[in-house]
Amino acid sequence: MAYAYDDQNIFAKILRGEIPNDTVLETEHTLAFADIRPQAPTHVLVIPKGAYVTYDHFAAEASDAEIVDFTRAVAKVVEMTGVGADAGPGARFISNAGEHGVQEVPHFHLHVLGGRMLGRMLD
Ligand code: IMP
Repeated sequence: MAYAYDDQNIFAKILRGEIPNDTVLETEHTLAFADIRPQAPTHVLVIPKGAYVTYDHFAAEASDAEIVDFTRAVAKVVEMTGVGADAGPGARFISNAGEHGVQEVPHFHLHVLGGRMLGRMLD
């Protein structure tokens, strides 16, 4: 499957430093920043620095180093924000993909949401 990456998407611009962001964490391959329209008290977006469109694109084509770095960055964000289900009331991890997933920004991102009761997600 070929994924066409649009390097003019807003997260690509954030990664190039063309648009400011409220950084939570930066590692070698990953950036985490506050969502500009937060849906919960904690709403962080975690993105790989590489040019991946969706989660499945990232999962299929990213290097092991990128995948490990991303996964550990998510864990660190959970620890930093205190929303881990082990120590607190828990969180939600969402990645929208494509048209049916209602993806707004075509650069893979994981939403980390917490800090309130989120309710049931699926209709
Ligand atoms: P999705 O693509 O539908 O999963 O959601 C994209 C998310 O990016 C939304 O929650 C937006 O609020 C968020 N967003 C869009 N532009 C920016 C920005 O410049 N900074 C931080 N978050 C943004």
